[in-house]
Parts: sequence; C-alpha cells; structure tokens
Amino acid sequence: MTELTDLGVKAIRDGVTGGTFTAREVAEAFNAAVAAASQLNAFIVTTPEHALAAADKTDAVRAAGLPLGKLAGVPIGMKDLFATRGVQTTAASHILEGFKPQYESTVSQNLWNAGAGMLGKLNMDQFAMGSSNETSHFGNVISPWRRSDGGNAALTPGGSSGGSAAVVSGRITPAATGTDTGGSIRQPAALTGIAGIKPTYGRCSRWGVVAFASSLDQAGSMARDVTDCAIMLEAMAGFDPKDATSLDLPVPEWSANLSNDMRGKRVGIPREYRVEGMDPVIDALWQQGVAWARDAGAEVVEISLPHTSYALAAYYIIAPAEASSNLARYDGVRYGLRELPDHAGLQDMYAATRAAGFGDEVKRRILIGTYVLSAGFYDAYYTQAQKVRTLIARDFERAWETCDVILTPTAPNAAFALGEKLADPLAMYLNDVFTVPASLAGLPAMSVPAGLDGSGLPLGLQVIGKPFDEQGVLNAGLAIESRAGFSAKPEKWW
Ligand code: GLN
Repeated sequence: MTELTDLGVKAIRDGVTGGTFTAREVAEAFNAAVAAASQLNAFIVTTPEHALAAADKTDAVRAAGLPLGKLAGVPIGMKDLFATRGVQTTAASHILEGFKPQYESTVSQNLWNAGAGMLGKLNMDQFAMGSSNETSHFGNVISPWRRSDGGNAALTPGGSSGGSAAVVSGRITPAATGTDTGGSIRQPAALTGIAGIKPTYGRCSRWGVVAFASSLDQAGSMARDVTDCAIMLEAMAGFDPKDATSLDLPVPEWSANLSNDMRGKRVGIPREYRVEGMDPVIDALWQQGVAWARDAGAEVVEISLPHTSYALAAYYIIAPAEASSNLARYDGVRYGLRELPDHAGLQDMYAATRAAGFGDEVKRRILIGTYVLSAGFYDAYYTQAQKVRTLIARDFERAWETCDVILTPTAPNAAFALGEKLADPLAMYLNDVFTVPASLAGLPAMSVPAGLDGSGLPLGLQVIGKPFDEQGVLNAGLAIESRAGFSAKPEKWW
C-alpha cells in the first residue's frame, strides 16, 4: 500500500481536492514522519500544530464546497531563513536564538494562502553561508543517504538549504522552501537526489527573508520532481511592493505548460565548465545529459562563457561585502541575543554580543566583506568584482544568441562526509563553482536528479535559462528527468 508520505505535492493536492483522503490525514502522517526523524537534526523547531490547523482549514473549505488553493492540504518544511509570525526564526544563528517575528515573510504567507501548512523550521547553514550545513549553531544536518559501499559515515546533505534537502529526500516532507544566493537550492538538491529551482532574481519577494547578500538572494522550491517544484514556485512567486527588487510581472502557469519535448530548442554546453580535475563520473553524467537532450529533440551546441573562471572569486567578494553590511543590524539592541558584560558600555555590549552570537564562518565573511569595502581596498576588490560580475552577465547574454538553455553539472562532486572539508574553506567554496555564475547574472536555474555515482550517491544536472524563462528551465529539467528515470531514494535507517 502506498503510504501518504510517499506522495509528493501534486499527488497530495489532487488527492485532497478529489476527496481520496483528508488534509488532516496527510498532516498527521507527515507530523509523525517528522517526529520519527529527529536523528537527522533537520528541524530547528517543529510546528505540528501549524500543519494541523492549516489542514483543518483546507478540509473545512472543501466541505463548504469553496475553491481550494494550488497547495491545498500540502504540508511543507520552511527553511529557517523565512520570518514566520510567532514561530522562532534564527537563520540557524545563536544571535537570533529566541527571536519570534511579529510578521510573516511574503513567500511563506503566499504558501499559506495557497493552502499549505508548516511542519517546522528547517536547519541550514548559519545565515545561509556554507555548502554542507556544518555552520549551523544548531548542529549538522545528517543526510538520509549513506554510501552503498563505504560503511555508515554520516554524509552532508549539502548547503545551505541542507535541512530542506534532507527532509524532502528522506520522504519526511513532500517539499520545502529553499533560498539560493550562490547555489544553496541547487547544490543540496543535487547531493540528495531531489529537484530544486532558483527562479529569476526578483520573482520571489525577499521581504521577511533574513538577508545574506541582497543582490543575489532568491527563494525557490525544493521537491521530489520538476512538476512539484513548478506548482510550489507558482504559489511562492509574485510581485510584492514591499520588496523594491520584486519583479512586477504576472506569474505564469508553469505547471500547466510543462513539456518534455525539446524540439526546436537549442541546448548550450559551455566549454569552460569542463574544469580540470573534474570527477570522470560527473563528466560522464553530463555527456549522458547531452544525449537525453538530443533524444528530447533538442539541438546541442557548444558555447563559450569565457569569464567563468573568475565567477567564484567575484562571488566570494560580493557576497561577503553585502553580508558585512546586512549583518551590521545584529547589535544586541533590536533582535535576539544580548551579551552584557559587567560595567559594559554600548560598544562593549555590541562587541560581546557579536562575538558570542555569530559563528566562525559568519565572522570570516564579515571580516572579508569589511576588508574589501574598506577605503584603501574598495577599488582593488569590490569595484573589480562588480566589473567581473558585469562581464559574466554579458557572457550569458551572448550565449542566448545561440542557445535557449544551458546544461551543466550542478556540483563538482557527490555528497561528502561531514567534517571532510570543514578545515579548508577554499575546498568548500569550490562546491559552488557551477552554480555561482547564474547567481551573479540573476538567471533562473534548477538542478534535477540524474544519476548515481559508484557509491550509490545521487548526482544532479543543472539547467540555466534566460531571464524570466522559468518555463524553459522547467521543461528542459523535465526532459532530463523523464529520460533519467531517477527513482533511487535513501533507505530508512533513522
Ligand atoms: N555556498 C555558498 C556560500 O556559502 C552559497 C550559499 C547560498 O547560496 N546561500 O555562500
């Protein structure tokens, strides 16, 4: 018998709408799955009562014969970067511990309006800084995946949306929100065998999302397949006057226009993404992706994105610069933690609070960001990085003259063991090598599960699209997904 927790977004929504089961039954099943998964440390707080209340509301709306939302009866996990009214919101940092917002982020409100409920707030890298979920104040998330050949080493689910990736791949929630500044939806999706999309910058409101690097931050959906991602993203996206960078465009019906037929489409393969020392398994998967695109009827063309090799360096200047400015607001006066040493003046209170409240990686970013913005170094680093960002955006603009979407690997490696890259920040930053360019250019991009490595761990392929062309990205993603036939899932050990 199919368990309710085996179902994804569309199946749940359709089942609730059609009366096959009630939203309450669904919420109870997932609340139980959440309660049974505490070993994964994927939630910072759980909110079973929120899921049940939303479900009861959906069941009442249905009983009254009134129209149901796109996500009727679908309980989801909420990354702890989204402000949720009355529910602790920490960005996985000690400095916000105990902070209960008085307001709801626009994206989470949109989800509740569509009929979704909240199972809990998901663990993540602190302030979304990281690629392995190891910078959280609340401890690592442990991936539900284990190597088939190498003992039971605890693996990373990727980051920064590591809790989101872990619960979706472990069938603990049908879907989850993520945010992506340099790859934080796509890389964890790839490492856990799920789908995840970061839309065009501005599609989802940033209002009420704890800010990391405001010119890059973008929310998106993480789910088991492309269709579920499309449905959820439709509910999340939309113009919001409260975010000055919000796109004032209608949200297309992406899920109604999905097609895995790529006839007439050109798929670009950027030669600069064939980086030296790339794992041959990743390269082989990429070639397989090319074959699937051809099978879908697409024409495959080689393209050049000549400034790719500078993207990571530019990102790791721009993102910390913006973070150092955004994180100045955490001073012990207005939110969360306050450390007050004996006989302290205001400056001492600021310093003590920030020293105790921020984790090491966050401090590293604040130091780098403050340095590259300082008067003597601003032009050498920050201005230069902004110029590189423009060149990278221009690379993509040129590429769109010869192709409609771009296909690349999502990450240079499969999931690694917790602790493996922790001592070497540069090795960790390299995880973002394929995801960062699209972020710098503000482009929509998604990861779809495409295969397994020799140890039985999932690998993803990335599709990058033109601005506002989420449909093209989702359709290419679907073309790959339907040919890859990825059905692996972690065996339950928790
Ligand atoms: N791993 C990248 C970083 O640490 C990206 C994070 C993100 O997209 N939020 O900055």
